[in-house]
Formats: sequence, structure tokens, C-alpha cells
Amino acid sequence: MLMSANKPLVALENAAEFHARHIGPDAADEAGMLSVIGAASRRALIDAVVPANIKRSNAMNLPAVASEAQALAELKAMAAQNKVLKSYIGQGYYDTLTPGVILRNILENPAWYTAYTPYQAEISQGRMEALVNFQTMVTDLTGMAIANGSMLDEATAAAEAMTLALRVGKSKSQVFFVADDVLPQTLEVVQTRAKPLGLTVQVGPAADAGKSECFAALLQYPGVQGDVRSLQAAADAVHGQGALLIAAADLLALTLIKAPAELGADIAVGNTQRFGMPMGNGGPHAAYMACKDEYKRSLPGRLVGVSIDAHGAPAYRLALQTREQHIRREKATSNICTAQVLPAVVASMYAVYHGPVGLKRIAQRVASFTAVLAQSLQGLGWTLANTSAFDTLTVNTGGKTDGILAAAVAAGMNLRRSAIDTVSISLDETTTRADLQALLAVFSAGKAVADFSAFEKGVASLIPAELQRTSAYLTHPVFNRYHSETEMLRYLRGLSDKDLALDRSMIPLGSCTMKLNATSEMIPITWPEFANIHPFAPHDQLKGYALLNEQLTAWLCQATGYAGISLQPNAGSQGEYAGLLAIKAFHEARQEGHRKICLIPESAHGTNPASAQMVGMTVVVTKCDKEGNIDLVDLKAKCEQHSANLAAIMITYPSTYGVFDTHVKEICALVKSHGGRVYVDGANMNALVGVAAPGEFGGDVSHLNLHKTFCIPHGGGGPGVGPVCVVADLVPYLPTHRSGGYASETAIGAVSAAPLGNAAVLPISWMYCRMMGADGLQAATEVAILSANYVAARLADAFDIHFSSNVTSLKGGGVAHECILDIRPLKDATGVGAEDVAKRLIDYGFHAPTLSFPVAGTLMVEPTESESKFELDRFCDAMLAIRAEITKVADGTWSREDNPLVNAPHTAEALLKAEWSHGYSREEAAYPVATLRRQKYWVPVGRVDNVWGDRNLSCSCPPMSDYEA
Ligand SMILES: *Cc1c(COP(=O)(O)O)cnc(C)c1O
Repeated sequence: MLMSANKPLVALENAAEFHARHIGPDAADEAGMLSVIGAASRRALIDAVVPANIKRSNAMNLPAVASEAQALAELKAMAAQNKVLKSYIGQGYYDTLTPGVILRNILENPAWYTAYTPYQAEISQGRMEALVNFQTMVTDLTGMAIANGSMLDEATAAAEAMTLALRVGKSKSQVFFVADDVLPQTLEVVQTRAKPLGLTVQVGPAADAGKSECFAALLQYPGVQGDVRSLQAAADAVHGQGALLIAAADLLALTLIKAPAELGADIAVGNTQRFGMPMGNGGPHAAYMACKDEYKRSLPGRLVGVSIDAHGAPAYRLALQTREQHIRREKATSNICTAQVLPAVVASMYAVYHGPVGLKRIAQRVASFTAVLAQSLQGLGWTLANTSAFDTLTVNTGGKTDGILAAAVAAGMNLRRSAIDTVSISLDETTTRADLQALLAVFSAGKAVADFSAFEKGVASLIPAELQRTSAYLTHPVFNRYHSETEMLRYLRGLSDKDLALDRSMIPLGSCTMKLNATSEMIPITWPEFANIHPFAPHDQLKGYALLNEQLTAWLCQATGYAGISLQPNAGSQGEYAGLLAIKAFHEARQEGHRKICLIPESAHGTNPASAQMVGMTVVVTKCDKEGNIDLVDLKAKCEQHSANLAAIMITYPSTYGVFDTHVKEICALVKSHGGRVYVDGANMNALVGVAAPGEFGGDVSHLNLHKTFCIPHGGGGPGVGPVCVVADLVPYLPTHRSGGYASETAIGAVSAAPLGNAAVLPISWMYCRMMGADGLQAATEVAILSANYVAARLADAFDIHFSSNVTSLKGGGVAHECILDIRPLKDATGVGAEDVAKRLIDYGFHAPTLSFPVAGTLMVEPTESESKFELDRFCDAMLAIRAEITKVADGTWSREDNPLVNAPHTAEALLKAEWSHGYSREEAAYPVATLRRQKYWVPVGRVDNVWGDRNLSCSCPPMSDYEA
């Protein structure tokens, strides 16, 4: 026998479970952190800060954990249940060729996908340049004056255009006209949105637009059946009534056909999916909205503009933020917060890479193949319902629709059933001659298919001569320079190098949960079985997605304690909207439609009041006490005052102040006793998963932010997924989707263009849950709370922790998963404010915490469970060093006007100027801590002047001359 006395060499368990990779601190770190806080154990800490009466009754019931490899294999098997057929369905979604350089260096690159929304302008110049390219691409192609930095999808963009037109138009009409060849999913979402606002949606032939009174008309350009018709007559007719024309326009078509603005449209909306973003079963894709200059202050969504920095150099920053929900609340132009930045970056780079000539060539090829197909079909004896076309033909089937669709599926193709006796075929940039042959075979019923090589060169365009585009577009150098892959690669790398994302350092953003977006979670999203699926493909081809939906929904029900969930909303704001609509529908079903008051504490996120306004509720603001809790006296008074009309309360739990309000059960019961329903904003679920469930402690509805708690990366400001979760009696009111073939009598309708919203990113959250398991998810929550308390404890002597649970045994007082540092006392004493601290952190290589939300003059830090103790210490050390710098201002070592805080951030250019006249050294500016000498993030611009940019608004690519010093 050989060495029988030895111990076995190999352990039988995996080297490390995924949760040990996801969670930063290990056991030794945890012990060290607990001792700084003054807690005996993690359990003791959780017991001290989480109120006992809200704790979960049972552990979550989730499958036993899978390793990274196992989970990927399991998901791959699920994906294989989707059937990828060649799609000719069109209807707003087309197959596209994502250039490899964009696929790998943007869509699959953490430098882009882990970035946060560009609130901190100085460290977001790269992604904002990409968004300005997007805005320029849209304004050039549509001919409009201004475009925003993405909408959630074409359908919601059209609905937002409707309310924009209502705000800015002169008509007093409450009728919105929608042409009958608008994308059906767009009509459906517009109907959902119009109803609570009391607007009438009138559907009719495009030629009838403006024939009767309306405040705006929506036309599809080209129409869903393929027709390319002028918008001009409709524009003239609606303008005659003081109404507006909205065109839903296809950007690829616009490279060949007249721009909507040239034909009198006032607003243009559409999808940019076919510019390089896979169909992904409906999302995520960036939609766009563009309009006349005079409407810019009413435009919804994020807008990137050009401003100048402290040295007068051009710099980008978010423009006209005063329109947005976080400032204007229920008076905001919309509730949009998270948008679709990553897909917008992809689309913009598709335009940069192909340039105007390349895009036109792609479009011409599509248009030519469409003309070839038309002629060939007619040669086979078929008639077409459209006489003009860009990429879509509608074939009269003479009652043979079912047979044709079935034959197509048998041959591996999906066509669109556009009416009982028509099918539509939409071509795209992937279409080849062989594809045309295969298509024609479906329509030839055994007859020989004509050889179109004989006539394809001379085939006449189906675009009417008077609609052919003559105006130029994409003339800016950025669209004409990066056409070799080497140039493109370096351009993308250069942009991402300007930015701070999670791939470089911690992003301690309160309320945003910037946690690990694990590679294994990201890998599946570009698998063809998930990526190349049309959202309106027959259901039997979507079985993998159906299973994904079913499992993820069940797991999220476990996490939240709710009975039903819809994954359709494609951002938290859309989940709020859907949830409030469900509450409204519930009241209406009980003949209590008069219940329209929505109570919202003053601490609430801006999307809450903005969403309440959109469903036609009236917002009544309730007070918070000085501990940050909801003021019970005020709440009782308001409940009594509005008892007969109370619809709901919207609370965030733990609150946006970062505390577990101990009265939450009481608050829920109180509102319910007055007939109201309780909406618990779930953006802070990272403090609850596995520990407490809103569906158990009193919530009726919540939304989750899968792009916060469940690991979908922020993408620089989207995509997101905002599932709406409800208790049993509200399940009948969850969103459905008629156009997608999911009907229900009671449902509130569709809230997104696609039935499963941003379906293609759902595998990320599935992988996260599958690899963490119930214990891992609970541990993540507990370590998130531990980490926040550790930061609070380490900073408590230097900064005022604004709200806490006042647990005297804990250093820092006990906070939830985030803590607010109050900079106002320091500002009063030294002039150095929260913004200066935020900008100075850039010199230390950090992204700032959330600035001035939810309390002006404060910083809100949320470290998450994913940051190691090493990184938490590096951040705390930076904050303490900054605090010491503030002391130097206080004691007069540095003046109030000239110190490294108020001058932050420091660019290399500013530091290398021959003349250095500051009262502190270059070294003190650049290397305040020694480790920065080895690794340093060099900020590309100095502090950005927000006011200058809003006064001199410019939201498209600046002329190159701006960069000449
Ligand atoms: C992020 C957030 C929202 C909005 O979510 P989006 O996905 O950005 O629309 C709502 N409420 C709170 C508290 C949030 O932090």
C-alpha cells in the first residue's frame, strides 16, 4: 500500500464558490470590519440595524447553488430551447451585423458597460462624447434641431412625444391621432399611456391625419406595411389647427429618404436597434427622440451638451437637468431616469464606423434587394399591397396566409402576418441573394424562381422620386475618420480611457448599488440563441426565453415576498408607472376610481412623483423627521384629510436616507386602513434580499432595479430592467402585451414595446441568482450592510453621519446599506462643499458618491458587498485625507479661494503649465497620497461649468475648431 498514512491531496469542493468571488471581504476582513464598528458578529450587526418585526418568516426557496461553469451550462441548455430562424418580421426589429470591433470593445467591454450615468461630468467625457455622437447622428438623419441621449424604446418614445406635443402645442384638443400603419406595439403603449391622462386615441388612415381636430398626429415613416409616403400633407393639415406632427422614422431609411423635418414633422422618434444592436427578443435598444429647437426645455430624457471647463476648454456634461424628474419631480418632462446608454453608444459607433457613405451603401443594398424581391414576386404572379417601399413588402396572399407562414417557418424563416390576407417581408443588412432565393421559393409553390441576376442591376427604386433624400448628413469629421478597424479600435479605447468605471475603482453611489457585474453573468447576453431572436417570433420559438422568464420571476417572488411579477418594464421608472397603474386599475374595478391621492415622503426619489403624475394621480408630499424617518404625525393627518380619495403611498425601504424606519409596518397598516395601497420602491432591495421581504412586511407593489440589486451593469446610464412585483389581488392588473400575443381582460396593457422588455439582459440576473443561491444572496445583503456600517464607522469622527439608527453601541450609529455624509457644516466653516469633495475625489482616483441626493449638500455612500476591505480602506483613507485638507483651509494654511479642493479636479495640462501660482504645490494637487504615484487616473478636463453650457446650449458634435487651442 502506498503512503496510506498521508492525508488526501485534493479537496473535493470547488476552490471558491461564486459568492466568494462576488462578495469582496473574506472572513478575516469581516472580523476586522466588525471590530471597527463595534459589533460582535455579522448576525449581531444585522439584528441591531434591521427591525426585528420585518424580518423574513422563511429563508428564500431557491435551487442549490451552481458553480460558474455549471450555471453557464444550464443556461446554455435553456437558450438552446429558443429557435433562431431568419427573421423577416420587421415591425421595428431587424437582424443586424454588429461590427466585431464594437461587439468586443463596447458591448462586451467592462470599461463601457460598468460605467455609471454621467452625473460626474469630468470622469464621463468618453461616454458623453459617444452620446453626443448619438445625438448628432439622430439630428442629422431626422433633420431636427435637437435630440436626446436615448429613450427606452420606440413605443414609449412615441408616448413621450404625445405628452411633449400636449405640453408645447397650441391646440386645446384632447385627441391624439395615430395612423393605422404605425407599429402595433407603439399604438398599444400609446393607448396605455393616454388612458390615465384622459386623452382619446383616434386611429385612422394616415391620409386622415388632421382631417378632424387633434393636438398631434403620429405617422410611421415608412409605414409598417412598407409604404414610403410623404408626411407633408399631414403636417400642413395638423399645423393648420395648431397641432403637431410626430414622425416615427427608421434611421436606416432616412439615409435614402427625405428627413422628417424636411417634410414638416415637429418631433421625430424611433429605434436605433438596427444600427448594430442584436434584436435580443425586443431589447435593450436605444430609441431616440428629436424635435424643434423651441421644444428643448420640454424634451424628456437625458441630453448631453457641450460646455467649457474651468480652463475654458470644451467639455461635455448633462444639459438642461432642470427638466428632469430628480429636480422637477411631478412637474418633470417625464419620469425617465435610467435610459439606454450602452445601446445608444453601440448605435452611435455603428454610424461612426460605417460613416455616411457606408450607411448609405447598406441602405441602398436593402432597398435594391427589396425592389428585386418585389419584381420577382410580381413575376411569380403575386400582387403587393404597397406601391412604394424601402425595406418592406406586403404581399396579398389571397387567403393563403397560413400556408405561406407555415412554409416559411419550415424553410427556417419568419414572415409577418400583417392582416388576414397579407404577409409582410422586411429585409435588412444581413439579407443575401441566397436569402432572396429562399424567400421566393416559399412563394413559388414549385414554379421555377426567376433568375434575378438578369435584372437586379437595372431594377428601379421603390422610393418615390420626390421623397429621395438630397440633403447631406453625418458630415462631421467624427463620422468620417474612423473607418479602418485600427482607427476605430483606438478611438474606442481612447474614449473609455477618459472615463472612470467599475473596472478601475469603486463607485460608491448611494441608491445605485454599483456592485460586481460578473463576467460569467455577462457572457450569455451575446449568445445567438438569446441575441438573434425577434420579439414577435412565434411563441414556440421562444421557449428558452419563456423558461428564463418563468424561473427568474419565481426567484424574484421568493426574494420579494410578492405573488406575481412582470419583467416587462425596462427601467425602474417604468416599473413604478406600471405598479401605480395596477393600483389605479384595482381602485377602478371597485368603483373607487376617485381615489387619486398619492402620498410621497419628501425624501423620495424624483421618479416617484413623476410616475404618479403620469398615471393621473395627485401627489401630496409628507414630511420626514430629523432622524430621516417618515413623520408619523404628519402622515396620520394627511391620511385622515385624504381618506376618501387616498390611492396609495410610495415609500422607499430602507429609506433613501439609508435607514430602516422601525415604523414601516405601522405606516403600511395606516395607509391601508384608509383604503390606500402601499408602493414600496425597491431600488434599495440590496439591503433586504434574504433578510426582509416587502411583500411580507406590508408592501402591495414594488419595482426592482435589476440594474442595481441584481447585477445588470449600469451601462453608463442604461439599459435597466424594472420588474413590477405585486401581491395576489393585484396580479390580474400586471402588464400584458396584445401585439406580442399575450392578452388579458383586466391587465393595464403594454408598458414597453416588447413583451419581455429588455429581455436580452435578463440572463445576467438569472446567472447571479443561480450562482449565489439563497445563502449567497442573503450573505451579499448582510455584507452590503456591514460594508456601509464599516465606512460610516471609519468616517464617523471626521464627518457628520447625517442619519443613523442611533444604536449607541455601534460606531457610526448603525446605518442600512448606505450612509449620508453631511458636508454642510464644513461648507459653512470653510467654503468647501460637497461638490468640492466630489471633484477632489477624482484627483484621488475615485468616482464621487451620490451628490446632493436625497439631501442637498451631502454625499451618499453605498459601498456594496462587492468591494474588498482593501478598496473600502483606500476610499476611507481618501475621504480622511480630504478631511485633513479641509482642516488646512479651516486653519488658514490654504485660502478659501485657492486650495486643491475648490480647484479640483486637476488635469495634467493644468499641472504642467510653466507658471504655477497656487498656494499649494503641484505634488499636493496630483499626489495627495503616495500610492497615486504608482497608479493614477488623469482626468481629461477640469471642473465643468454647468451654467455656461445651459446658457449656450449645444447638443451635437462641436466643430473641430473648438479644440484648437
Ligand atoms: C434608481 C432609482 C429609481 C429609478 O430607477 P431607474 O431604473 O433609474 O428608472 C427609483 N427610485 C429609487 C430610490 C432609485 O434609487
